[in-house]
Amino acid sequence: MQRARAAIFENLADLLTNAHSSGELSDLFLSLLLEKRKRVERGILFVYDESNERLAVAAAHGYNIAQLVPLHLKTGEGMAGRAWHARRGAIYSDPNAIQAAWADLPPAHRERLFAAQSNLAPSLSAIAVPLLTADSVLGVVILESVSETDGFDADDLVWLQRLATIVSLGLENTRLRERVNPSRGDQAPERLKSEAVSFLAHEMRTPLTSIKGYATTLLLEEATFSEEKQREFIKRIDEECDTLVNLIHDLLESSIMDAGLMALEREPVMLPRLVEGIVQDFIERSPNHRFLIDFPESFPLVQADPDRLAQVLSNLLENAVKYSPRGGLIIVQGELRPHEAVVSVADQGIGIAPEHLNRLFEKFFRVKDGPSRGTVGSGLGLPIARTIVESHGGRIWAESRLGEGSIFYFALPLQETVEVAACA
Ligand code: ADP
Repeated sequence: MQRARAAIFENLADLLTNAHSSGELSDLFLSLLLEKRKRVERGILFVYDESNERLAVAAAHGYNIAQLVPLHLKTGEGMAGRAWHARRGAIYSDPNAIQAAWADLPPAHRERLFAAQSNLAPSLSAIAVPLLTADSVLGVVILESVSETDGFDADDLVWLQRLATIVSLGLENTRLRERVNPSRGDQAPERLKSEAVSFLAHEMRTPLTSIKGYATTLLLEEATFSEEKQREFIKRIDEECDTLVNLIHDLLESSIMDAGLMALEREPVMLPRLVEGIVQDFIERSPNHRFLIDFPESFPLVQADPDRLAQVLSNLLENAVKYSPRGGLIIVQGELRPHEAVVSVADQGIGIAPEHLNRLFEKFFRVKDGPSRGTVGSGLGLPIARTIVESHGGRIWAESRLGEGSIFYFALPLQETVEVAACA
């Protein structure tokens, strides 16, 4: 039994990161519980619908779900409504207790509920717990056993409540994602703004949900994990924390720039040397990728803010790594054009479809379909890079073919005075 519980926790973190809709998450969660917990053959997951203040069936196993769809329960009504209202779980040890728990349903609803169980024997015991978040109750999950009375005990209540609370985070997360329309064409600015907030909240919740899942699993008293497994979980937590820090960093940077508070501290910069330092960092961090730097021997100094240019290069290299999931060569090249120093970052990654190419530098734009699906990002890295380059009087652009890699370029103006001071 303890092993079954541990197995559920272990699977839960993956499930939370991979489910793409609240319906899918509800269904997968219920399947997981039924698959791993012995002598549980039936279950329903209700979600609360704010628009009509009713609980509706989001997933059901061991029931004919089509018959359950019209069932909309009031809060406080029936086994599910009571768990929702009390914000507390309950155990129903025998068939009488189960019948009594549903007795206050209107007769038509009660008949519908019990008729929907027709393929299996009647339930002998049940457990119901609310799906709680810090400030709301998202729904209720009910598990039922057709094979034993007294099938659930106080430990089950604690265990299921913990799982339900983790899944609630995931449900909130997927609901936010569903609210955000990925194609945000020509919507009004206010709408765009609030969608941007939901978008970011979602992007932050994905790593948070994962961290919570792994941490709770590690803290489980009843489960023991091998040292290797523990390290793997801690490594995932560490990586997800880095993702969060990067998202927050981008968000702050972007608002500083929006407020016009970015101050440039210009000085003569040797671009090849700056590139070398940053690429060295990436070589250490990204062992799957190879890096090549290619600058003409004498490259002029540019008048620029080195920290800000480093940020542009890091954003481009970060993307080159992130969107080349199978590794490959990344080339950073310098080129001199009349009055301009051009730097490019080329990768052999997933590439970008032509219809997305001219939207890359829009705030919060991310390609949601194809191989980049599932990557986390702020959609702010390229807009930030553009603001920095343009505030230096330069320009930034991209060339790409889907499936064949991408090249990102930025060009900085060469000033006559520093143009002649070739670097050693
Ligand atoms: P983020 O990477 O955080 O989503 P960016 O503003 O850096 O945000 O990039 C915006 C989008 O452009 C990405 O979500 C991705 O779809 C696409 N993109 C950026 N760089 C690359 C690249 N080198 N290869 C393929 N797609 C890219």
